[in-house]
Amino acid sequence: MSNHKSYTGIDHFRFIAALLIITIHTSPLVSYSQTSDFILTRIIARVAVPFFIMTSGFFLISRYTRNNDKLKVFIKNTALIYIIAILIYIPVNIYNNYFTQDNIIPKFLKDLIFDGTFYHLWYLPASILGAVIAWYLVKHFDYKKAFIITIILYLIGLLGDSYYGISDKISVLHSFYSLIFQLSDYTRNGIFFTPVFFVLGGFIADNSCKLSFKKSICGFGISFALMFCEAMILHYFNLQKHDSMYIFLPLSMYFLFHIILHFKGKRLIWLRTLSLIIYIIHPMMIILVRLIAKLFHLQNLFIQNSIMHFLLVCVISIIFGIITTIFFNKYKFKNKKYISNTDRAYIEINLKNLEHNVHILQKVMPCKCQLMAVVKANAYGHGAFEISTHLDKIGVKAFAVATIDEGIRLRKYGIRGEILILGYTDIHRASELKKYNLTQTLIDYEYANALNRQGVNIKAHIKIDTGMHRLGISYKDFNAVKNIFTLKNIKINGIYTHLCCSDSLHPDDITFTRDQINKFYHLIDILKNNGIPIPKLHIQSSFGLMNYPSLKCDYVRVGIALYGVLSSPNNDTVLKLNLRPVLSLKSKVVLIRTIQKGDSVGYSRNFIAPQDSKIAIVPIGYADGFPRNLSCRKNMVRINQQLVPIIGHICMDQLMIDITNAKDIVLGDTVTLIDSELCNNLNAPNIADRANSISNELLCRMGTRLPIVSKY
Ligand SMILES: *Cc1c(COP(=O)(O)O)cnc(C)c1O
Repeated sequence: MSNHKSYTGIDHFRFIAALLIITIHTSPLVSYSQTSDFILTRIIARVAVPFFIMTSGFFLISRYTRNNDKLKVFIKNTALIYIIAILIYIPVNIYNNYFTQDNIIPKFLKDLIFDGTFYHLWYLPASILGAVIAWYLVKHFDYKKAFIITIILYLIGLLGDSYYGISDKISVLHSFYSLIFQLSDYTRNGIFFTPVFFVLGGFIADNSCKLSFKKSICGFGISFALMFCEAMILHYFNLQKHDSMYIFLPLSMYFLFHIILHFKGKRLIWLRTLSLIIYIIHPMMIILVRLIAKLFHLQNLFIQNSIMHFLLVCVISIIFGIITTIFFNKYKFKNKKYISNTDRAYIEINLKNLEHNVHILQKVMPCKCQLMAVVKANAYGHGAFEISTHLDKIGVKAFAVATIDEGIRLRKYGIRGEILILGYTDIHRASELKKYNLTQTLIDYEYANALNRQGVNIKAHIKIDTGMHRLGISYKDFNAVKNIFTLKNIKINGIYTHLCCSDSLHPDDITFTRDQINKFYHLIDILKNNGIPIPKLHIQSSFGLMNYPSLKCDYVRVGIALYGVLSSPNNDTVLKLNLRPVLSLKSKVVLIRTIQKGDSVGYSRNFIAPQDSKIAIVPIGYADGFPRNLSCRKNMVRINQQLVPIIGHICMDQLMIDITNAKDIVLGDTVTLIDSELCNNLNAPNIADRANSISNELLCRMGTRLPIVSKY
């Protein structure tokens, strides 16, 4: 859930920004000093529009959105607001003889797309255009490229805006901008101005590594001071055609937005509606103020005095805004999306713990060795989306999955690193391997050959069987391995093997594992001696790393350890890593009932009450992944700090617990079934052990029906 993301700062600053826009359009200081008016309206207040755009970008642009539904909704809503605003201003347009101009059709089209049909409305089409450009750049390239492209657009815009005095003197640029100014009165529009701020907003949202408050303040102080000097110099030399684009504006905005994000608290969504309404109607209020002043002969007070004028426009805009907001909220179609889907049972993912585990594992890996995050089986039941996008954000660049469909799903989530498919893929899906840039494991020589015959260029890793006898070419079959390197359509990026008893510290198992490792390296040596260029090598999974940490490979394929648990409570390891479980499983009490001595509970009447008892019903069952063989007092759950037993048989969708001896249990109390606290009896290895399994199986069976909620 996004509880941790409360963007109160954004909500408040929306209001401030709306007032800054009024400032720009009323010039409060102009009757006192031209310079201070310039500073206030052309420098300070210039942060307002970029802020609005970054906010839209922050909530809209992401590398991790799966389809463009969000973009469509944004376009639809913005277009709707734009149409309404156009209609509102038609009377003013008529009064200004807008519609009786020459060439009204091309002029209207140009205004519709770039300049707005009333001066401040340019912002709405510019938002739509900028959002589309930023969206496609971020989805099709990475942030770096999207930045470079949008910054170039911004610089082109800049030379037609604050720096136009320079370009005007250079004949090529002069003709270029003359052309542009035929299409759009300003370069401050959806093509040159807004895309970079959309990208910036999305970038900040996607990169959870927040700048500290102190750094944000310093960064803003410095960049804003530079922007201030820049603006004053341009102003002094009279170089500005228009004055909304400065070189240091995007940088200042980057830091300012971080400052704003540091203010947390309850969200104030109504401020968003209020600011929007103020933005749209304030020019109308300016006209109204002028009208009233004229009517009552108060021009001296309310027009000549720029501060009074500004204040009056603010006050009536706010009053009008509040009334409309109240009206709007009352009659608005209520958003029916349910607030929380955790009302029955859910998996809770602790992303901080995931990050902690990544850092702990990376610390013990040899340098130059990369962590390959194994996210097969819906990331061991933790949610492939939640886990892989977070790993991507913190810089993990290699992933492993079991099937091609899991790989494709990762690509759709926006994962860009290497994705290795550990299992078999039907050769007829070769073109999908290429389309989604997936790396296929070659499970034997015939398979490699058949895949090669598909005529599609494919990246692959060769799997070597060194004793597990599952997938792979035998370590003895040097010729087969060598021949694979000659296959035209297959690019070999790696060779790997899998250890089958690296989790055991029994001397026989250690001997067997060492033998597996030696066989693998022996094969590699022969390849080397035959002049075959050696690609990336990898051997270890979680236990391989923890028990054989001295191997120097290019990757470690970490699965279970990433999720912070060992497979079983009996596992002992050479490296004792301070891992933290990522998953907890929670449900709640939905019914409490008393039963009499001798009453039975559940299917097969397995539980017979030995005394008058109190039981609670918990809506989670084996269809949610909680094993049925933990029935009948074999396992406890935690409720209100107390451990109580599961009684009777666990059903498909619910289970019963005996709370006779527990204190203060009420309806709705949270029931914890798997705990992310390590040192207790409810951690995954212990529970799996009681269910005669390992935590790998227990965890990966979760997450088909249960919602996944991540917290940070
Ligand atoms: C699942 C898998 C892994 C990850 O194993 P863990 O023990 O969970 O770390 C690594 N390599 C291969 C080939 C696998 O199938």
